[in-house]
Amino acid sequence: MQCLLRAMELEWLSESMVYWILIIGLVIEFIFEMYLCYRQYCVQVSSELRQLSSEVRNYFPMPIFARSKNYAIDTNKFNMYCNVHRLVKLLVVLHYGYYYTAWRFTKTLIDSLGFWPSSWDEDIGRSMCFAIIELSVTQVVQLPISIYNTFFLEARYGFNERSAKLYITDKVTCFFINIVIRCPCVALAIYIVKQSGGATAIVFYLWAFTVVMLVILSYGYPLVIAPLYNDYTPLRDGNLKTSIQSLTTTVGFPMAGVVVVDSTRRSGHSNAYYMGLFSKKKIVISDSLMKGYTTGGDGKGLEDNEVVAVIAHELAHWKYQHTLKGILIAQFEIILAFGAFAILHEHPSIYQAFGFPRGMMPIWPGFKIILWYLLLLVIQPLDTLMNQRTQAFEYEADRFAVELGFGANLKSAVMKMFEDNLSFPFRDKWYSACRDSHPSLLNRLDAIEIEIRNHTQRTR
Ligand SMILES: [Zn+2]
Repeated sequence: MQCLLRAMELEWLSESMVYWILIIGLVIEFIFEMYLCYRQYCVQVSSELRQLSSEVRNYFPMPIFARSKNYAIDTNKFNMYCNVHRLVKLLVVLHYGYYYTAWRFTKTLIDSLGFWPSSWDEDIGRSMCFAIIELSVTQVVQLPISIYNTFFLEARYGFNERSAKLYITDKVTCFFINIVIRCPCVALAIYIVKQSGGATAIVFYLWAFTVVMLVILSYGYPLVIAPLYNDYTPLRDGNLKTSIQSLTTTVGFPMAGVVVVDSTRRSGHSNAYYMGLFSKKKIVISDSLMKGYTTGGDGKGLEDNEVVAVIAHELAHWKYQHTLKGILIAQFEIILAFGAFAILHEHPSIYQAFGFPRGMMPIWPGFKIILWYLLLLVIQPLDTLMNQRTQAFEYEADRFAVELGFGANLKSAVMKMFEDNLSFPFRDKWYSACRDSHPSLLNRLDAIEIEIRNHTQRTR
């Protein structure tokens, strides 16, 4: 029993053990990610047009197939580069004690600028400074990757519509929104940890705080944040609007309106979804999803009956409460993270491995260390399980649309969306299982086909 207690207290864990466990963990995770990308790459280069059925080939004639294949290969190579960049970044932070340097700098900032009254809790002020420094450094370090992705990779395949000015505006807006949301959250989290006392209380109060924040952000995002980036205008009157209204009435969806988002301002990718809470839900459709809705579009977009089939699929996510189920499943990860933090955050070796001197264990950097490093090998498998769940939700939503009689339109809509988004039809099964939130095109078409047959038999 004493051995077990000693193990739980982690007294045996020295600074160098933590350091090497983290290095080994990061390298294992990196190798696994690269292996997944390599498998995906092998599938991409070896797949050929003749492997597709004649029905799918109608949407992927040779020029489109070749273009989507090149896009998939280039994106995969980019992901591999991002993996290397991420590993180097994490190793540099660990080896050169970046968190300690940043934490020391917060003291200099507070003392020199004098904006934090000395009677207030210094930890809270320094933690908010730390969060801002970290966000600023991350923006700078990620900038070359982000610029390459937007202006080279996406632009090469016709998906970037953002001008340099809009790109900069988006980045600055995102930065300040992040600060406005993050700083009060950090301050409250530090306050909660300090006031809570024991590990169980820390987990419970942090979790309750997270749930409240999730509800506030879910409600506030469509009202406050989303309109900062895009214009949301009511869908024009016509057959499409009438069909969507009739569909929402049939399934009992509490709709407050159908709006079109001007996604073509930034990207050529198309989508449809619903947002809002309770009876204030709105269906949102990308302008690029509807054929001929905007000028240009190069023949991209779906016919009206195909858009309605896609909306039927989206309504299934509401009907079966997939969003709520997803949030509930995510609570497991959140509680796990807070639990690990509550147990480990007063263990000195963890801080010393990151360059902190003995006895210095600041809460916010500790949370980052535990979340980004110690839980890395646990969070990744959980993300895989989450992807399995969301893929199952997609099949369920397709089944719902088929049962409403949209089977044929859904099939053609899915193929057209894959074509318009240059989504390569072939995926490696391991990569897809671990990293894709949606099933591959071919798996999805097979499932829809089975559902159509079942539905036809039932209604005969
Ligand atoms: Zn879906």
